[in-house]
Amino acid sequence: MAIRVAVNGYGTIGKRVADAVALQKDMKLVGVTANSYSWLTEVAQKKGYDIYSIGDQEAFKQNGIKIAGTIQDLMGKVDVIVDGAPKKIGKENLEKFYKPNRIKATFQGGEKHATAGTSFVAQCNYNEAVGKDYVRVVSCNTTGLVRTLNEINRLYGIDSVHATMIRRGADPADIYHGPINGIVPVLEMPSHHGPDVQTVLKGVEIFTTALSVSTTLMHVHSIIADLKRKPDIQEVIQRFKDAARIRVVRNAEVIRSTAQIMELAKDLGFARGDMPEICVWEEAIGIDPNGHNKLFYMQAVHQESDVVPENVDAIRAMMGEKDAQKSIRMTNEAMGIK
Ligand code: NAD
Repeated sequence: MAIRVAVNGYGTIGKRVADAVALQKDMKLVGVTANSYSWLTEVAQKKGYDIYSIGDQEAFKQNGIKIAGTIQDLMGKVDVIVDGAPKKIGKENLEKFYKPNRIKATFQGGEKHATAGTSFVAQCNYNEAVGKDYVRVVSCNTTGLVRTLNEINRLYGIDSVHATMIRRGADPADIYHGPINGIVPVLEMPSHHGPDVQTVLKGVEIFTTALSVSTTLMHVHSIIADLKRKPDIQEVIQRFKDAARIRVVRNAEVIRSTAQIMELAKDLGFARGDMPEICVWEEAIGIDPNGHNKLFYMQAVHQESDVVPENVDAIRAMMGEKDAQKSIRMTNEAMGIK
């Protein structure tokens, strides 16, 4: 029987996970919630998704949106809820809806690790989520760091990492955040990303710093990893090429910026022009000229989409699928990811 899934918090992440779930052969999207009327509800209706209201239904009715029930009605119909609500609301939803109704839930990176107790990146620690009731898919930045560092750790063993995150100021449709001018350093050491990586890639020493810049397209990470063995550039490139959800992009093919990666994503035909794979620049992978066991690389992270396949895998793991590779393959095939 198909896994019955609903999305509570149908925004930037939620709408993408809803579409990804609807593509899976072993899952059924039972519905999505809406707490206010907008184009999102119009599109959800157009896609044929059942819409469950949070609070007042009047605005939906006035605008011709058919409501299938309330969020409470939804609780009786699903196996797993994907919580895509804004930061900290997931914790409230857990206490209010998921726990009392004994429903499994995935949470997003805006929630604390303690809310779910298990933090997740499928390629790294899928097994930890098997059979769990609550799993937190870590933030876009943490997902990006864990995906590539996990491969490096398996290949050479990591002694320590220093990574700097150059973060997009806001999502493309967000007119409320910034900066629209200036470069804004995160004035706390380390930035929260390092400790967050350690909730998934356990035992790896990592120190992160971060800055926000005036772009909406992607984040860029500059990573320095001290390794237990001397790395080989060609071996690293091949490892990234072989790994799931990592794409090696090249200066030689005129991919020189996040702008060109976003264009590439559209040309490849990804839904919404998303790039769910972490893009590592081949020419920006380097080793220490002084012979230390150091590896340098730069990668781009599409904040709106890299966590989407992770939510799908988390659902399968929570429902008991033990085979990580099988789940990753199924998710990727359905979403057209390598
Ligand atoms: P968003 O604001 O785009 O979407 C949130 C949606 O939740 C909106 O549609 C809103 O109407 C709805 N909502 C508001 N209150 C609600 C409630 N009480 N119950 C249910 N739904 C409610 O937010 P987002 O960017 O999709 O972020 C959601 C989560 O994903 C956060 O934890 C965030 O940190 C995380 N995340 C965001 C990004 C990103 O780049 N946007 C990337 C990775 C993870």
